[in-house]
Amino acid sequence: MQTYQASCIFDGKATLAEGPGWDEERQAIVWVDIEKGKISRFYPSTQRNETWAVSQKVGCVVRTSEGDLLAGGQEGLLKLNPESGEVTSLQNPEPDLPVNRFNDGKCDPQGRLWAGTMSCEEEEGAGSLYRITNEGSVKRMVESVTISNGLAWSQDGRTMYYIDTPTRHVDAFDFDPVEGEISNRRHVIEIPKDMGYPDGMTIDAEGKLWVAMCHGGTVLRIDPLSGELLHQVDFPCVETTACAFGGSNLERLFVTTGLHKTLKEPDAGKVFVVDGLGVCGVPSFAYGR
Ligand code: CA
Repeated sequence: MQTYQASCIFDGKATLAEGPGWDEERQAIVWVDIEKGKISRFYPSTQRNETWAVSQKVGCVVRTSEGDLLAGGQEGLLKLNPESGEVTSLQNPEPDLPVNRFNDGKCDPQGRLWAGTMSCEEEEGAGSLYRITNEGSVKRMVESVTISNGLAWSQDGRTMYYIDTPTRHVDAFDFDPVEGEISNRRHVIEIPKDMGYPDGMTIDAEGKLWVAMCHGGTVLRIDPLSGELLHQVDFPCVETTACAFGGSNLERLFVTTGLHKTLKEPDAGKVFVVDGLGVCGVPSFAYGR
């Protein structure tokens, strides 16, 4: 198995950096600091980082086809106009669960947002995975989730991969791209106990998953068909939270990290990049079409 080292590309001094996605048009990464309630857009070529505070914990952000940013927070979905900084509250699918917040979320290739929730107290089974259509209708698609995390779609658009972190599994669903329906949930990868827990993930052009391991300090490249561990990227901190391909040819892997509860790690909370992987990613899809 090949191993790689990650390099720091930006020190945003985040508490819990998460949810990176590549904005092809701006050649920038959108990402969040969940605990600080901040949405950011980082331009690797200039090192510029734009930041907007949204006054609540924010678990995910995606760009929209209209140039806004759509995010999931503790009070539901919200839209941010990056030009004016104006924040608009949208639907909250869980008004009766104030301890819940949105966690990881991502758009499918058709531009629907899939975003999950979790209890801030990590209560077992308190979260759900939601689908938000381009018309804005919100539907609960998976119930009894504990920490809703990584999402990815196969390149043929027929399989959706999904992580509920404490299960230590990557699951797959059959995915209907036209209707946006999921079925036939099954485990495709089991993460060994000593490697940490699966958190955010992305997929490359060869159909292999890149899974960030919280409490593991690695990103693992895994074949979802065989379960085989192919590559490992090592980090100087243990809370590796999520990853996304970016760069002009989607050849760079950007990885977010967070602070450990007790360990003092000088590099935790920074954004990292891994180059020279020899494989390219798939685009981060925008919301709406
Ligand atoms: Ca996460």
